[in-house]
Amino acid sequence: MSIADKITELKNELEPKVTLVAVSKTKPNEAILEAYEAGQRVFGENKVQELTAKYDELPKDIEWHFIGHLQTNKVKYIAPFVSLLHGVDSLKLLKTVDKEGQKNNRKIPVLLQFHIAEEETKFGLNQEEARELLSSSDFAGLDWVDVRGVMGMATYTDDETQIRREFHQLKNIFEQLKQEFFGDKNSFSEISMGMSGDYKLAVAEGSTMVRVGSSIFGERNYH
Ligand SMILES: *Cc1c(COP(=O)(O)O)cnc(C)c1O
Repeated sequence: MSIADKITELKNELEPKVTLVAVSKTKPNEAILEAYEAGQRVFGENKVQELTAKYDELPKDIEWHFIGHLQTNKVKYIAPFVSLLHGVDSLKLLKTVDKEGQKNNRKIPVLLQFHIAEEETKFGLNQEEARELLSSSDFAGLDWVDVRGVMGMATYTDDETQIRREFHQLKNIFEQLKQEFFGDKNSFSEISMGMSGDYKLAVAEGSTMVRVGSSIFGERNYH
């Protein structure tokens, strides 16, 4: 199936309230343009250098999401234009994003990343860490970041019960944080979960944003 057909198929399959982030990392501009011609406007990248190059070269009405782990010293390169940062998991990073937001005179939308998978990784908060962060005076002083919701990745496994449980956990975290910290903020509304292999399960568990790469663009070749 062509990239364009795949975009159309996914758009038809997903309810309008679920945003499709087409994950174009490692893929050339031509592939992105094919998706763009089919109506896709939201794309996800996980490397700063690759993202800035693509931003420079491709149509300006593309919304670029950064879906990877962001180093504080690289925030400045994407702060002027990035539409959403999915992987924010520390106060240190939030403070840097805030500083760059102020410099660019724009409030930068972010999602807090949670560690829901059983795999060991140094990325992602747990609920207790998030509570601590959100109730800190440091956080209260940040005027140039806009926390729009949460993001997470399920374990890479065939066990659908486990995947659903992990997505369900992220949905619960979202609901609790909303109640506790964002009750009066309607813009805290996004649950970014689901990739090519598990987006159907994620949507069934309440995802509002799926990040789909290889199902659209084909397998990636890593060097
Ligand atoms: C690469 C990537 C995706 C897309 O993965 P596919 O399996 O190709 O759909 C989604 N989310 C993140 C954070 C990624 O790094």
